[in-house]
Amino acid sequence: MTPQPRPGLVLQGEAEEGRPLSPPGPDATAPSPEPAYPAGRTGVAERVIAWQRSHGRHSLPWQGTRDPYRIWLSEIMLQQTQVSTVLPYYQRFLERFPTVADLAAAPVGEIMALWAGLGYYTRARNLHGCAQRIVAEHGGRFPASAEALATLPGIGRSTAAAVAAFAYGERAAILDGNVRRVLARHHGVDGDPASPGVLRRLWEVAEAELPDLSRHNDGHAAMTAYTQGLMDLGATVCTRGMPACERCPLTDSCVALREARQLELPGKRRRKAAGERQVHLLWIRHQDHTLLEQRPPRGIWGGLLSLPECDDGDIAAACRRLGIEPDGEPEPLAPFQHVFTHFRLHATPWRIQAGRLALAEDGRHQWLEASALNDAALPAPIRKLLVEPPLFRGAGGDDGRSS
Ligand code: SF4
Repeated sequence: MTPQPRPGLVLQGEAEEGRPLSPPGPDATAPSPEPAYPAGRTGVAERVIAWQRSHGRHSLPWQGTRDPYRIWLSEIMLQQTQVSTVLPYYQRFLERFPTVADLAAAPVGEIMALWAGLGYYTRARNLHGCAQRIVAEHGGRFPASAEALATLPGIGRSTAAAVAAFAYGERAAILDGNVRRVLARHHGVDGDPASPGVLRRLWEVAEAELPDLSRHNDGHAAMTAYTQGLMDLGATVCTRGMPACERCPLTDSCVALREARQLELPGKRRRKAAGERQVHLLWIRHQDHTLLEQRPPRGIWGGLLSLPECDDGDIAAACRRLGIEPDGEPEPLAPFQHVFTHFRLHATPWRIQAGRLALAEDGRHQWLEASALNDAALPAPIRKLLVEPPLFRGAGGDDGRSS
C-alpha cells in the first residue's frame, strides 16, 4: 500500500459538551473569542486553531469523543493509510471490539483476519499486544499521559501525543509525516526530514509552536483544535504536490512561500534502492479446500495466512516437502507483482490439484473451504488471487496483475 497523507482526528470539545461547532462569530452559544496572537511569538498556534474551527474537517466518524480507546484505534489505523480506506475497518473493529478489554481478549488470528487488507500488519499485532498490556498492567484504562502511552507497543512519540492531546487535552507536540511537511515549509527547514538532525530540529519547532493553553478558556478544546488543525492543514492545504497557499492561515510567516520554495521543502528522503524478489506460490486444492500456511509473526504478511511458497521454481520438490501428491501437472497462472516498502515481489502462482487430503493439519498448515476464504486473514494480493482467480495465461505470460 502506498503511503498516503493521513488526515487524522477531528475531536471538538464543543461537540462533546453539546455546543454547536461554528466558526468564530457573534453566536452567543459559541466559545468565547480567542485572544489576539500573542506578542513575541509566531502566532502559528492561534492561527491554526482559528482556521481549524472554521475550515477544518468535522465529520469523521471518530469525532466528538474523548474516549482514548476510539482515538487510539483510529490513530493506529490512519498511520500510512488513507481515511477512505480506514473507514470500514474502523467501523468493523468497533462493532466487534467495543472496548479495549474486548480487543485484548480476542484471539490474535481474529484481529489479523479483520485487519487483512489494511496493510502494515505489524500494526495489528501491536494493537493486540497494546490492548493486552493495558488490561494487564493498567486495569483496562489507557495511561493518561503521552509519556506513559509511548511505552506501549506500537505507540510512537507522535501517536502518543495525538492520543493525549485529543483524549486528555495534554499540551503535547505531534510530528507525523504531514505535520513535518507543514513545519519544514513554514520554518524553512532544509534536509531529509527523516534524518536524525532534521528530525530533531522539527521536533524543536513542533514543541516551540504549541499553543499557550493558559490563554484559552477551554484548554482541552484549544489543544484539540490545534492538533487537528495541523493534521488538516497537511492533508488538505499544504499537500505533497503544490500546496494551496491561498487557503493557508500561515501565509504571512511562511518561509517556503516567501522564497517560492514550496516544492523544495521538505528535502527529499534518501531511500535505499528497492530490491526485487521472485517467489512461486503453491495454490494447492483438494475438491473445494485450499491449503494455507501461517506466516511467521515477523516479516512480510507476518501472522497472516498465505499460500505455501518456493523460491527456486521446483514445484514438484516443494509438493513433496509438503507431503502433497499432485493429481496431474501443476498449472501456471498469470504472474503478478506486489510492491512493499523496500522491495518488489514478483509472484508466480501455480494451481495444483491434490489427489487426496494428504497433509495433516499441523498448526502451521490448514485446509480451508472456499466459503471460508472471505473471512480468513489473507494478505490483499492473495485474497485477490483466491477470490478473483486470474485467467490461465501460462508461465512467463503477461505480468498483468499489479496490486
Ligand atoms: S503558506 Fe503554503 S507552503 Fe506555507 S505552510 Fe501554508 S500551504 Fe504550506
